[in-house]
Amino acid sequence: MKGLLKRLSNAPGVSGFEEKVRELIFNELDGYVDQIKIDEMGNLIAIKNGIPDGKRIMLAAHMDEIGLMVRYIDKNGFIKFSKIGNLNDQMLLNQDISIQTSNGKINGVIGSKPPHKMKKSEKNNVVEYDRMFIDIGASSREEAEKMVGVGDPIVINQNFQDFGYHLVKGKALDNRVGCAILVEVLKKVDSSATIYGVATVQEEVGLKGAKTSTFSINPDMALALDVTIAGDHPGIKREDAPSELGKGPSIVLADESGDGIITHPMVKKLLISEAEKENIPYQLEVREGGTTDGTAIQLTRQGIPTGVISPPSRYIHTPVSVVNMEDIDYTVKLILAVLNDVK
Ligand code: ZN
Repeated sequence: MKGLLKRLSNAPGVSGFEEKVRELIFNELDGYVDQIKIDEMGNLIAIKNGIPDGKRIMLAAHMDEIGLMVRYIDKNGFIKFSKIGNLNDQMLLNQDISIQTSNGKINGVIGSKPPHKMKKSEKNNVVEYDRMFIDIGASSREEAEKMVGVGDPIVINQNFQDFGYHLVKGKALDNRVGCAILVEVLKKVDSSATIYGVATVQEEVGLKGAKTSTFSINPDMALALDVTIAGDHPGIKREDAPSELGKGPSIVLADESGDGIITHPMVKKLLISEAEKENIPYQLEVREGGTTDGTAIQLTRQGIPTGVISPPSRYIHTPVSVVNMEDIDYTVKLILAVLNDVK
């Protein structure tokens, strides 16, 4: 499981450019499910058949990560970029990056003045992203254009590592954690329901892949698998993010203060009763900011009973986030308990 998460975390997959992650998931699932298809938007849909006329249950995990995109190349070969997804400017400066081009990966760095050359006011203020630039080692626009193109996606690099007790750190754990859980569940599930495992595209930029894939699948019930914010570290009030690492997955009861999802009562009851029955630790969460694919899924067609299961993660939407592998194992157990118990 850790090896799979490592490969998923290290793979590049900025929203709209999820091919490498999709390829990995495809190869993992090949032979374990009855069918795998890629739809028009780029979602991967893996189907494991249940009994004829049985229930249809959808699991969704988004493949995309937040990142950057080449917007402009200046005459000296430096690159201006746009942000793709919810990124904070103050964590961008001096990051090690790679640009994914049609000819492969180009390495670079988000450059800045050395501190010696900064005025005091500059040192104390956040540099806004549109004043930053990327250095790819080109010395002219012509040289840079041979390497990268406008519209190419940019990934902030960070190598996956384990540390501490059961913890791992890496980039894009939002939501390669969900992807790893999806793969593991599909490999092991034995349900009377037909399971549609969907690795979705473009969640971070408007829940797009979930919208289109749910329309085509039209399931009886759905679970979105994503990470949630862990508040068990300095600088954050526990009441603002009560979930903590190592205490099992969070069952989300509402997110975006109810503007996102308010979990369907049947799904809420099902998740909690299975966790209790199987002695799986879990946390309950009412989230104020942020939402998931579950929000788009529940509003499809006539409405789909939907829930969200989220292992907590520290530092999401920053270049390096942290999760506890035990929470991931518990999440897999809980989802398998739910699916294998479907009547
Ligand atoms: Zn996410």
